[in-house]
Amino acid sequence: MNLYTMKTPLCSMCMKSDFLCSGCSQKLIEGDLSETAIDVSRTLFKLSEKVPSLQTATIHQVITTADSLVILTGEGDGPKVVGKSGKIVKMLAEKTSKSVRVIENSNNFEEIIRGLIFPVQVQGINTLFSAGGEKKKVVISLKDKGRIPFNDLSFRNVVQKLTNREAVLCFE
Ligand SMILES: [Zn+2]
Repeated sequence: MNLYTMKTPLCSMCMKSDFLCSGCSQKLIEGDLSETAIDVSRTLFKLSEKVPSLQTATIHQVITTADSLVILTGEGDGPKVVGKSGKIVKMLAEKTSKSVRVIENSNNFEEIIRGLIFPVQVQGINTLFSAGGEKKKVVISLKDKGRIPFNDLSFRNVVQKLTNREAVLCFE
């Protein structure tokens, strides 16, 4: 008997079926869920029947941009979703044709940003204050510009969803 069930952005009923309940449908309409997030949640759930470590994993968010897929996991759950030798991530990358990032949930803004753009190094993170509020400026070396799987807009959207904060990428 399974004592644990993986948690995903989908409710447990929708995760196990091909249907969407009214709650999850509403999330899809409002943009809190995407077709890809639904697909990834169901794929990982199916896989958890064969990969026991996934059964205790929590997936908080699956965020997609044009080229990448960002999976926000519970603290300590990153390796479970990455899989042995990156096996699960590779499978997801092939399935979705996107570059896949797995990030563990953290209150540490810098840690999330480092995970997001790894293996590119963050040169610095500065806080910009304006009338509109606080903004984080993430500084990256100009030579790494082509190595980041996000453009300015998708970076901003992903960071907003992950951390609820405004951020701008800056190459220096
Ligand atoms: Zn549901």
